[in-house]
Amino acid sequence: MFVSDILAEKGGIVFSVTPRTTAAQVAEQLSTRRVGSVLVLRENEVVGIVSERDLVRGMAQHGAAALEMEAREIMTTDVVSCDPDDTIEQVMAIMTRGRFRHLPVIRHGELLGLVSIGDVVKARLTETQVEAEALKAYIVAS
Ligand code: AMP
Repeated sequence: MFVSDILAEKGGIVFSVTPRTTAAQVAEQLSTRRVGSVLVLRENEVVGIVSERDLVRGMAQHGAAALEMEAREIMTTDVVSCDPDDTIEQVMAIMTRGRFRHLPVIRHGELLGLVSIGDVVKARLTETQVEAEALKAYIVAS
């Protein structure tokens, strides 16, 4: 199963903010959209990602003042992405190695979507179930 299969099911919608969006507004977006991260876009270019962890870190370091900080001050700028042709296993390895749970899907500079660890686990479960059913069918047939 590939990243493109996940996107075919969940669609390519990506929630994003601008570098000047405040941390308080980011928190509101995460809460209302029920997601764990938002991409930071400047004129359609991915310049960062802000996740729940960045908000927690900001508050631990700056207290309530962190809520007035801007996305550009708390985001991770070195964003790792994946390709629609990457396999579920490859994406799991990238997330494990990088210790993050979100990966934008980018091809030829175009943002196609975002996969979360939840999407990946769900896809892997489906894959495992399909494999188990195929094995059962094979055993019954032989
Ligand atoms: P997460 O586990 O996705 O909530 O993120 C943990 C940390 O990794 C946060 O500091 C995020 O900004 C950062 N992060 C999340 N996704 C990515 C990514 N695709 N590339 C680089 N950093 C990321």
